[in-house]
Amino acid sequence: MNTFKIGENTFELAESIIKDLKASDNLGILKCIQCGMCTSTCPAARHTDYDPREIIKRVLDKDETLIKDDIIWNCFYCYTCHSICPVNNSACEVNQVLRQKTIDNGKGKSKIAPFSEYADSYLESGLGTIPSDFFSDLIKDYGNEWIELKANLEEIRKELSLGPMLLPKKDIEDINEILEKTGFTKRLERVRRCKDEKDTR
Ligand code: SF4
Ligand code: SF4
Repeated sequence: MNTFKIGENTFELAESIIKDLKASDNLGILKCIQCGMCTSTCPAARHTDYDPREIIKRVLDKDETLIKDDIIWNCFYCYTCHSICPVNNSACEVNQVLRQKTIDNGKGKSKIAPFSEYADSYLESGLGTIPSDFFSDLIKDYGNEWIELKANLEEIRKELSLGPMLLPKKDIEDINEILEKTGFTKRLERVRRCKDEKDTR
């Protein structure tokens, strides 16, 4: 595990991100030319104050406050920045590492708790589905057509000669076994507990 702690740096911030398991080989943070292509294509930057180019600049400036800054939670891992960067850098991966550092430093628990609902769907149906908390926003965006599509999905699939979306029970059981053996289920329990835990620093 990476040993980076706020105020006790064994490595500089950028170095510690490059060495993290979550980072791709040859992640190009140190080659960032601040061209801003990541920001110009980032959907989160379009709708919020979040700016991936700025995140990388702050990493290069050894700005440890980034780890406590809520702004890193605005990225939603679409990987657009990753695919467009001319020097093989990835604000997306950098954010993943920064978030882990936040958690390691006792912060951000309330931010990760909602992810458990995505994970629950793998256990329940073997598929990643949208948590019900998002339904009202989806209805707002897509109108009642979205509810109708959801309610009649299996019928529509049949008309299109597609098989059922839901997996057979045996497949769901197999997926649960894989999730158990790979440590996913245990990790999910830890994430669920975060709902009731307060940040410690
Ligand atoms: S696209 Fe790459 S090089 Fe350009 S600012 Fe973003 S991270 Fe830096
Ligand atoms: S992965 Fe994050 S930083 Fe990159 S483009 Fe998507 S939202 Fe923006």
